Amino acid sequence: MAKGTVKIVVERCKACGFCVEFCPTKVLALSPAFNSKGYHPPHMVNPEKCSGCDLCGMYCPDFAIFGYKVGEKPAQKEAVHES
Ligand code: SF4
Ligand code: SF4
Repeated sequence: MAKGTVKIVVERCKACGFCVEFCPTKVLALSPAFNSKGYHPPHMVNPEKCSGCDLCGMYCPDFAIFGYKVGEKPAQKEAVHES
């Protein structure tokens, strides 16, 4: 079972791909779906490999993704930034 998971705030994503690139276990890929701004947000393609390390969240410039350990709550960075 995966140790972690991510919360993705689809509408904040600008599809820069940093989360995909910096995830150490290649959990993420940009999805074929669009958000309302026309960007492809990430989705989990290997969810069982997620450790909840939150490197994806640390690299995301738009506070659009939060990694967290199963059983914990995602970091509440939402209140800091809204674009
Ligand atoms: S929390 Fe860590 S392992 Fe999970 S998707 Fe983000 S970077 Fe990858
Ligand atoms: S790092 Fe953030 S803005 Fe960039 S693709 Fe991932 S979720 Fe979207």
